[in-house]
Amino acid sequence: MRIFDPHIHMSSRTTDDYERMHAAGVRALVEPAFWLGQPRTSVGSFVDYFDGLVGWEPFRAAQFGIRHHCTMALNPKEAGDPRCRPVLELLPRYLEKDGVVAVGEVGYDSMTPEEDEVFAHQLALAVDHDLPVLVHTPHRDKAAGTRRSLDVVRESGIAPERVVIDHLNEVTVGLVADSGCWMGFSIYPDTKMDEDRMVAILREHGTERMLVNSAADWGRSDPLKTRRTGEAMLAGGFTDADVDQVLWHNPVAFYGQSGRLVLDVPGEPTDSGALFAGNSVLRGGRA
Ligand SMILES: [Zn+2]
Repeated sequence: MRIFDPHIHMSSRTTDDYERMHAAGVRALVEPAFWLGQPRTSVGSFVDYFDGLVGWEPFRAAQFGIRHHCTMALNPKEAGDPRCRPVLELLPRYLEKDGVVAVGEVGYDSMTPEEDEVFAHQLALAVDHDLPVLVHTPHRDKAAGTRRSLDVVRESGIAPERVVIDHLNEVTVGLVADSGCWMGFSIYPDTKMDEDRMVAILREHGTERMLVNSAADWGRSDPLKTRRTGEAMLAGGFTDADVDQVLWHNPVAFYGQSGRLVLDVPGEPTDSGALFAGNSVLRGGRA
């Protein structure tokens, strides 16, 4: 099984995860910029984080045989914090970099006027930089949040096929299917979507414009949920070609719109001791 995880926060995961992901078939991924579990107090924190997303983290992934790409944005949870607002001025510089394949995660957390402004501004940035957009939908009041997100996307003038609306469920999938945007699903161990519900959604709505991700971060999550969904699809009567479409071709088609995907496989995992800015993933010398 060949897997492209279109939404996973690898900065919060360990080398064990990279090894298990490679063994499970993951060969490429997208790491969206998001918050850090607690509020950042200055723009400098974002600079270092963004630099890591285009520097150390792709290097680290390549050591484990996985191609790493990222998306850049001021995330919804911090969009209303005046200390973080100047991040919007930094973004144009990062949106030009190789390895940055979309603007995201953008969207709503609490649906405040500040979030409205930042969301609309970042959709305009995506249009200016000719990039797709990853839209996060709020965990509370999801239907209203999804509807309002679709309105803002429509008003921005961006083509719907360049937008993925993420973290959907049975209640919100139909709204997005009708909009022409891509549909994203985060499969978690014990909340929100699970792999069997995902299979039922694929049976009802088909495999077109569907993206399945693990959204793994430092909360309770599982970087192998993409693989588990592929297995559940096969057990549920889908073919290998269906699985390949959902877990590989769809993310390649969506993020390929950036013109910046690199999909040659960086090789098998190695312990070559390769260096990034003088540092390797090894700790201590080998005897
Ligand atoms: Zn996320």
